[in-house]
Amino acid sequence: MTTAKKRIIFCDFDGTITVNDNIIAIIKHFNPPGWEDIANSVLSQQISIRDGVGQMFRLLPTSIKQEVVEYGINNVQIRDGFAELLQYCKDEQIEFYVTSGGIDFFVYPVLARFGIPEDHIYCNGSDFSGKQIEITWPHPCDGHCTNDCGMCKTTIMRRFPATEFERIIIGDSVTDFEGAKLADVVFSRHYLTDKCKELGLPHTEFITFHDIVDELKKERTV
Ligand SMILES: [Mg+2]
Ligand SMILES: [Zn+2]
Repeated sequence: MTTAKKRIIFCDFDGTITVNDNIIAIIKHFNPPGWEDIANSVLSQQISIRDGVGQMFRLLPTSIKQEVVEYGINNVQIRDGFAELLQYCKDEQIEFYVTSGGIDFFVYPVLARFGIPEDHIYCNGSDFSGKQIEITWPHPCDGHCTNDCGMCKTTIMRRFPATEFERIIIGDSVTDFEGAKLADVVFSRHYLTDKCKELGLPHTEFITFHDIVDELKKERTV
């Protein structure tokens, strides 16, 4: 007799739980001179995501902290079916973790409404004690990852070994792809779907979290 593996979900935040990418929305909104050059250097992979995000926020003075935090929280629009997915996970005892490249000052308040405990949320930090906003990186890459991710999704996943867990990843972008390669099940949208197609990685496309609940129910009956 084999013991069923415990199902565990690793879910991205920006562009997945939320409809839009919040980091870019915040930077665009406050529009500090020079941010576009930094964003382009990230896109062309001249600098890492960690460097780029750190540099862009350093363009914003901490004197506008309140405006930045409020914009970050209020700008968020949650994708349909998120509360239902969380309820399904509770009912089925599926562990739910958020693995986000977003920043604590908007990720935690937005998710607090949904009752996700903070120890199930991995994201970057922020320090408003200096003159400029400084992003902090409490979850860096382990020895298996050389991407200088900032918040390293595969490092978190490796703490839940494939021998014990059925690892499910939900994401939307290229930064979710390395995690997708480790996962047993991939739910994708947008760039992550393109990347999975390009490299032949099995995946299920989704639009809302209702689609994911439906698929998880199917998988349960197999
Ligand atoms: Mg994303
Ligand atoms: Zn990494």
